[in-house]
Amino acid sequence: MSNPNGRFGIHGGQYIPEILMHAVTELEEAYNHYRQDPSFNRELTTLLNEYAGRPSRLYYAEKMTRDLGGARIYLKREDLNHTGSHKINNVLGQALLAKKMGKTRLIAETGAGQHGVATATAAALLGMKCVVYMGQEDTIRQALNVYRMRLLGAEVVPVKTGTATLKDAVSEAMRAWTSRIEDTHYCLGSVMGPHPFPTLVRDFQAVISREVKSQLMEREGLLPDAVLACVGGGSNAMGSFYHFIEEKSVRLIGCEAAGRGIDTFETAATIATGRPGIFHGMKSYFCQDQYGQIAPVYSISAGLDYPGIGPEHAYLHDTGRAEYVSVTDEEAVAAFEYLSQTEGIIPAIESAHAVAHAMQLAPGMRKDQIIVITISGRGDKDCAAIARYRGEDIHE
Ligand SMILES: *Cc1c(COP(=O)(O)O)cnc(C)c1O
Repeated sequence: MSNPNGRFGIHGGQYIPEILMHAVTELEEAYNHYRQDPSFNRELTTLLNEYAGRPSRLYYAEKMTRDLGGARIYLKREDLNHTGSHKINNVLGQALLAKKMGKTRLIAETGAGQHGVATATAAALLGMKCVVYMGQEDTIRQALNVYRMRLLGAEVVPVKTGTATLKDAVSEAMRAWTSRIEDTHYCLGSVMGPHPFPTLVRDFQAVISREVKSQLMEREGLLPDAVLACVGGGSNAMGSFYHFIEEKSVRLIGCEAAGRGIDTFETAATIATGRPGIFHGMKSYFCQDQYGQIAPVYSISAGLDYPGIGPEHAYLHDTGRAEYVSVTDEEAVAAFEYLSQTEGIIPAIESAHAVAHAMQLAPGMRKDQIIVITISGRGDKDCAAIARYRGEDIHE
């Protein structure tokens, strides 16, 4: 690990109760051991390739390129992975690590249910018990994913505290881990929380940029000029950026959810509207009210609806290495429809935030320049909500 104390500039760290120190230290030691273990890495690669379907395609979006009339656009197709998003990359890595550590139980938080479904999937495959904490509100909004998790053999625990959404599910999962660390691994879903999670999740997602780099080199013999990804906690974006951070010619652009706009209270754009703070075990930027309390956040996309951002993104923002832009619900919905109609690819509404910014960026770039957009997931799960947004009521 390049950051032994878990700091990214002033961000990151381990702001956790004493009782969890043992668990995160044990995890860090195990990770430092297994990440260099050839047989662990062989097993993980086999799971990623044979089970999750990697490497994912780097698809040249020719019609979109022609239509926008500027940079050549490539889509990194994480939507084609088993369970339909990039989440499986991280989950398979953590589940295998937990198994090597002798853990028999995985717990996880989930918002929309994507990470919960991925964790329940890995637990079924590896023969582990699984408990998923989910805000009560979200269990109602995402009933189908609750069914999927239970079908896969997981127990789903509705969380009734706070706003009964994702941030409360994270808090509850951390509390549950505190009370049972012997046999349990907390499979955290993004590049956030206390060290070593931001580093460990980034490393498991870095397979995205490793593949993009070699796929593009093979096809174009070039580096991209810009890499775009949506940012909730920031795991698909960190994975997409990682192997390009040292390549200073590559613009790294994170697309946050502005919701109804960054000048309204209904937003989830953390870099645009947040302030430094400490929450969920880390120092980073968080959306806060005037008293410094974590503010309720809103986005049409449940996967981007988190009041913080991973500490490495906070650092990439502070140093100017990455840029962060805000994309509204309206722009994301338009991009969701655009990609469906132009390329026949229905992206997750989260990923559509990155597509929306590419639609603004590409026309002003030269035809010999290259943009890579990470399509973090597929959009089947969003169709009913987008139809509703457009005033059409369809049954799920
Ligand atoms: C969960 C999710 C996200 C947001 O999480 P990150 O950690 O920011 O990547 C984005 N896209 C999809 C499809 C998701 O399921």
